[in-house]
Amino acid sequence: MARLKAAFCWCASCGGCEEAVIDLGEDLFSIAETLDVVFWPLAMDFKLRDVERLGDGEIAVSLINGGIRTSEHEHVARLLRKKSRYVVAFGTCAHIGGVPGLANFLLRDEIFEQIYQRSPSVPKKDRNEPSALTRVAQGTLSLPEFSPSLRTLGQVIPVDFSIPGCAPPPELVLEGIERILSAQPPERGAVLAPDTALCNSCARNATRPVGATIRDIKRVHEVLFDPERCFLDQGIICLGPATRDGCGQRCINANMPCRGCFGPPGREVDQGARFLSGLASIIDAGEDDMVGLIDAIVDPAGMFYYYSLPSSLLRGKRRARGSTHRR
Ligand code: SF4
Ligand code: SF4
Repeated sequence: MARLKAAFCWCASCGGCEEAVIDLGEDLFSIAETLDVVFWPLAMDFKLRDVERLGDGEIAVSLINGGIRTSEHEHVARLLRKKSRYVVAFGTCAHIGGVPGLANFLLRDEIFEQIYQRSPSVPKKDRNEPSALTRVAQGTLSLPEFSPSLRTLGQVIPVDFSIPGCAPPPELVLEGIERILSAQPPERGAVLAPDTALCNSCARNATRPVGATIRDIKRVHEVLFDPERCFLDQGIICLGPATRDGCGQRCINANMPCRGCFGPPGREVDQGARFLSGLASIIDAGEDDMVGLIDAIVDPAGMFYYYSLPSSLLRGKRRARGSTHRR
């Protein structure tokens, strides 16, 4: 039986999702019996022209990780979309933006200024910004364009499925690939993880606060906390109520609160807003105490949108109308 073609690709991400494929371990052998990898820049020496030569839809499934931050990311994503029957947003950054998406709290020129002009590690004489085209004696060098903001994969091309997680757990990856390639694939647009909140499967759920009980908000290093009790009940921010289940409570089991890498459950579009409304309902403070309590949350926007800013209603910082800054 002819094997199906598959592609893997890495855009704006840390590379952990590529590791998640390797984490499949011996299961990779069973996948290799059905899938023929035709593009995987991290592991194999294929070129883009190899993909360009394929027929439209010839690749059975492309797993693309990372957000879309440069013109090169966008070009590869569009090419794989054209050549693939199914495209999977693989991992948090492709699915909802991820940590690289926090850069959307800054405008593009503010990012460049910080990195290339103000960074103390760059000597004054080297303070040049990269440009898309640079003339040198031998000709013209080109770099991909840096986009005004980071976008999720689904904001750039139609995505068939998402496998969430930073990085996606191997069992979810294996099950997801098997379901996608089965005779009855999931409904298009599906997120291939349970459609419930993480709290539902958390061993600490019985101690989750009900009603207004929180009088204090602390950070994990500021308190000796009870490893059996719900983080929220101890005044420690845990995004479990606003996060999709399916990771196996990786952070909770390591005695750390959830930061939301699986994105929101169901049809929620704004994970941060969903968490905030839940938090407001369990805080026990009058108007005067409320300000101090909220001030105790260091970097609230970064905390509530740690992984999901580009896919939220905010999306990021907006340029003032009429601004003359370059984009
Ligand atoms: S808020 Fe966090 S610790 Fe509490 S039940 Fe939910 S996931 Fe578990
Ligand atoms: S506990 Fe939360 S942040 Fe940690 S892996 Fe699970 S979903 Fe991601």
